[in-house]
Amino acid sequence: MGGRRGLDRGRAGSRGISLAPVTEELSPPGEDLQYCPYCGDNLVLRLLPSEDRPRLVCDRSHILYVNPKVIVGVIPERRGRILLMRRAIEPRYGAWTFPGGFMEIDETAEECAAREAREEVGIQVSVGKLVGVYSRPAPQAPGIVSIVYRGRITGGEVKPGREALEARWFRPEDIPWDELAYETTRWALRDWLNSRRDTSRKRS
Ligand SMILES: [Zn+2]
Repeated sequence: MGGRRGLDRGRAGSRGISLAPVTEELSPPGEDLQYCPYCGDNLVLRLLPSEDRPRLVCDRSHILYVNPKVIVGVIPERRGRILLMRRAIEPRYGAWTFPGGFMEIDETAEECAAREAREEVGIQVSVGKLVGVYSRPAPQAPGIVSIVYRGRITGGEVKPGREALEARWFRPEDIPWDELAYETTRWALRDWLNSRRDTSRKRS
């Protein structure tokens, strides 16, 4: 995995509840991939006539495309408050975020959002409008695309799963901006706040 090793490297610096800005050090994507996942031959970086940038290829001409990973999150809302959880896993142990995680190959983005809410905080959500789509390209970041939805709670009881230390309702003015897990968390919450302001303006 391109970014995995880099993420692990960043882990040592963020052990415990240290909420310094995230500064993952990552190798360019694919640099540490050595073997073709299709046939097991060695991979080399080669500029092919059919491609506009060097690609990892093996002697049997398999091309390994290294693309971003998709993460889906949901901001659960109830009576003007949002549900945030504190991460119980590295990286960013102890930092606040909303439910979210890597999208599985056999689900839609909306299904992923609902699943993450169920697994991470024990609630059922009706997945609503898109809050935003956020990119963190390699090599400065892990190479991810984060899709974030609004979510209305339809059932279940707030119960932190194994990836959460606790879950708590926050009024917009109490959002712990300095203790958020990622830049994408901050960007999405900022956009959620703005969309909320737009909505109340339209109502009045
Ligand atoms: Zn191959």
